[in-house]
Amino acid sequence: MITRKKISQILSSYDQENLAICTLGSHSALNIFKGAKEEGFKTVCVCKENDKILYKKFPLADEILIVREFADILKPNFQKKLTQLNTILIPHGSFTAYLNTKQLTNSLFVPMFGNRQLLDWEADREKQKQWLSNAGLKLPKTFQKPEQINTLTIAKLPGAKGGKGYFLSNSPKSFRKKIKEMIRRGLLSRKDVRLIHLQEYVLGVNVYPHYFSSIINRDVEFLGVDKRYESAVDAIGRLPASEQLEIGINPTYTIVGNIPIMLRESLLPELIRIGESVVKVSNDIAPPGVIGPFCLETVITDNLDVYVFEISARIVAGTNVGIGISPYAYLRYGENMYMGRRIALEIKQAAKQKKLGEIVT
Ligand code: AMP
Ligand code: AMP
Repeated sequence: MITRKKISQILSSYDQENLAICTLGSHSALNIFKGAKEEGFKTVCVCKENDKILYKKFPLADEILIVREFADILKPNFQKKLTQLNTILIPHGSFTAYLNTKQLTNSLFVPMFGNRQLLDWEADREKQKQWLSNAGLKLPKTFQKPEQINTLTIAKLPGAKGGKGYFLSNSPKSFRKKIKEMIRRGLLSRKDVRLIHLQEYVLGVNVYPHYFSSIINRDVEFLGVDKRYESAVDAIGRLPASEQLEIGINPTYTIVGNIPIMLRESLLPELIRIGESVVKVSNDIAPPGVIGPFCLETVITDNLDVYVFEISARIVAGTNVGIGISPYAYLRYGENMYMGRRIALEIKQAAKQKKLGEIVT
């Protein structure tokens, strides 16, 4: 485990008036870079050759460092170069999708905005469940084995796979049938079958609130909400039921994009309380708790019950819907505030108050 002592040693070698904000070129990088530029930071993009076109098209990265794969960021010389640039890394979904927890917590010694211990809690479904239920939230039931399935159930693969390979079943028999079909369609590999997580499917609409736990302001801010646009599940309603039955569609959940939402105002007090209790519990499980952005994945039913089925302890790509125009961020900060910029603002304020050590790990 990279200790905070080690990180503060590295920070002490930094020119804190010339910090660079760096992230992997994917997921929410444009959001992060734009925010960093608007707050006056230098920016560094670590990306693959094939994606360079994007980070040139939107000229937000002052330096583009090409890697063959994202895990190359772990090479000691590469990390040394980043620290020489006074880099603060901003973790996002591609860090957890393409690096494993051990790599993130033991091998990446570049100071990272946020609490890296919580990335481990995010990656482990049992730990997530413990965290969310200790916060007093309503969670969907989980089933340990397919034989226990007795209601509509969603089968999930581990890690941030973007919903790829997920499927529904409502009995042990339909589960086995679906498994065969998913393998045949190449959406699931045989070795992943034993890693499947089974969760009660909650019927309702998806709502993904975005929060920011500010160490500097000592507050949990509510900055935006999105929902997801997922293939194929969001396409199925366009087919008449008779065709759906005829071709035996099995909905899958591959994320394609995000859509902003303004919520019914009377739902907000509960969502705010939920965010605050998640942060409170995080303080006990991994002090100093959440630093910066986090997001909950919820389903809200027709009784207005809020079920929370997942947490991301870092920026989510859903916050991209707020770039330049996030209404909830507007209510707090006025124009042109959004998650990437909120991150940069926190770093700027921390540097000014000589508190950088409190917001990076
Ligand atoms: P990518 O670099 O696009 O493969 O993204 C890395 C991971 O982040 C994916 O495996 C997805 O789980 C997640 N992700 C990417 N884009 C989005 C999005 N727009 N909304 C939600 N999750 C996303
Ligand atoms: P996840 O990878 O956990 O973010 O889930 C991907 C998608 O599956 C979500 O955006 C939802 O559309 C759907 N989903 C996941 N879990 C549930 C659940 N317990 N009930 C209803 N829908 C779910």
